[in-house]
Amino acid sequence: MTLALVTGASRGIGRATSLLLARQGYCVAVNYLRNEAAASQVVEEIAAAGGSAFAVQADIADEQQVVAMFERLDRAGEPLSALVNNAGILFQQATLEQLDAERINRVLATNVTGSFLCCREAVKRMSHRHGGAGGAIVNVSSAAARLGSPGEYVDYAASKGAIDTMTTGLSLEVAGQGIRVNGVRPGFIYTDMHGDGGEPGRVDRVKASLPMQRGGQPQEVAEAIAWLLSDSASYVTGSFIDLSGGK
Ligand code: NAD
Repeated sequence: MTLALVTGASRGIGRATSLLLARQGYCVAVNYLRNEAAASQVVEEIAAAGGSAFAVQADIADEQQVVAMFERLDRAGEPLSALVNNAGILFQQATLEQLDAERINRVLATNVTGSFLCCREAVKRMSHRHGGAGGAIVNVSSAAARLGSPGEYVDYAASKGAIDTMTTGLSLEVAGQGIRVNGVRPGFIYTDMHGDGGEPGRVDRVKASLPMQRGGQPQEVAEAIAWLLSDSASYVTGSFIDLSGGK
């Protein structure tokens, strides 16, 4: 058995991905920021289905906490073969004039710096150069990276654009070390991320604008992540799968 770390895994896309990876035979490290009870529930659900998992707390924007989280993984007894950089934040809709440095920096610290730090620690463990057996990383970007989210979340969209560039660059940097790095770009997915007081009627408006006329389910994103991590995608690196209903 090998280990898969999923960040921000107590709910939403991270939760669905953890459950799927456990069904596929990984021991899953379920990272969470604050909600220990929700992370424990994911772990219990995996155990009840005969899988293997444990919860691990860390704020991925904090370098020391990321290092400590990976040291905890080292003690799990299974080699790390998969990382899903899923944790991310999105604040309420705002125009350019409403953005301030604090908000922009918080978005970048979690979405970009956090993903970078987890990539660094994972690569140290997976790399052939350091005696590792190789591995795969999937970074969760967003359709926003392509669309820009004008007047709503340009800060968030820019952070996801940075994740795409990071994915491209790191895929090339570590390709010779037995590590594949890919990205997924979900569009509108039904998760709690949209539940925190957005514009009334936004969900219906967004749905109507999508060619498939519906949002996606976390499970539909999880399936693509699991495929990119799997040996079925053994010759795929530096690639992106759009899961956005055609937009
Ligand atoms: P979500 O809010 O349910 O999940 C995000 C998770 O990340 C939460 O559990 C949160 O606690 C965790 N998190 C936030 N900051 C963290 C930190 N500093 N350290 C550790 N964990 C942290 O939302 P989701 O929709 O499941 O989002 C998962 C990923 O998918 C995010 O990267 C998001 O940007 C991306 N995404 C979501 C959508 C969508 O429509 N839901 C669309 C495109 C991309």
